[in-house]
Amino acid sequence: MSPLGLGTVKFGRDQQVKYPWSFEIPDDNAVRELLALSRDLGINVLDTAPAYGSSEQRLGQLLTQRHDWVIVSKVGEAFENGQSRFDFSAQTTRQTIERSLKKLNTDYLDVVLVHSDGDDQRVIEQEDVLESLQQLKQAGLIRAIGMSTKTTTGGLWCVEHTDVIMATRNSSDHTDDPVLDRALELNKGVVIKKGLQSGHVDTKAGGSGIEEALNYVFSHDAVNCLIAGTINPKHLTQNAHLVSQLTDSAD
Ligand code: NAP
Repeated sequence: MSPLGLGTVKFGRDQQVKYPWSFEIPDDNAVRELLALSRDLGINVLDTAPAYGSSEQRLGQLLTQRHDWVIVSKVGEAFENGQSRFDFSAQTTRQTIERSLKKLNTDYLDVVLVHSDGDDQRVIEQEDVLESLQQLKQAGLIRAIGMSTKTTTGGLWCVEHTDVIMATRNSSDHTDDPVLDRALELNKGVVIKKGLQSGHVDTKAGGSGIEEALNYVFSHDAVNCLIAGTINPKHLTQNAHLVSQLTDSAD
């Protein structure tokens, strides 16, 4: 995984999102250009989900050389008719993976994460989703499984029992610090979400907000990859340059 991954919510969904400014979903040419630019900048991770509207479908149509990419998708949440719906049953998990494979035009997913509804513990203890993902991994449809958690307890369980954790890390949210500490001890995969607080860090052009936010994310040695969402080529380039300065100097 490259240290910076591209988050693709904005490729497919503009309803009920928490960004500071409204935006237009980019057209096919703009998405093609963002994907090509990502490759040129050394980015190989794409983060998508059924809950991101048409994101998976568009990636399936517009992505070339699928095997060059690490595709991260999710199960558990769907977004239909302007509403989120959660379902962690075995049947829906299998159907979701079948649909994601079809939409993404591929025969395997690199990483599949459970999209938590907030109640990590109930999902882990009472739902079939993680066991179903394990079976789909054994069947060769998925390479690595994990969860995008919302609680420390859920994160700690996932670090022990799955391959990859998607955790939150930014200077306003320290909930997952113990999770990252444990992931480092166990050498588990760590992908970070909300590193830029969904764009609510100080993002003025040339300002220090983005640099400080990225610095903070990579100040923990457990972090393998930050998923940052953007549909702006200048922001993508800035993020990639800043992250490569941080991670190159750490090598
Ligand atoms: P984010 O990456 O923290 O922030 C994205 C926002 O920051 C966008 O509005 C973007 O606007 C802006 N931005 C990015 N780079 C910038 C720069 N250099 N200068 C100024 N503004 C910049 O938030 P996110 O989209 O909520 O999360 C990122 C990804 O994580 C998502 O795409 C998704 O794949 C994943 N995620 C997963 C979960 C989960 O529960 N699994 C939850 C949240 C997010 P522009 O488009 O204008 O650049």
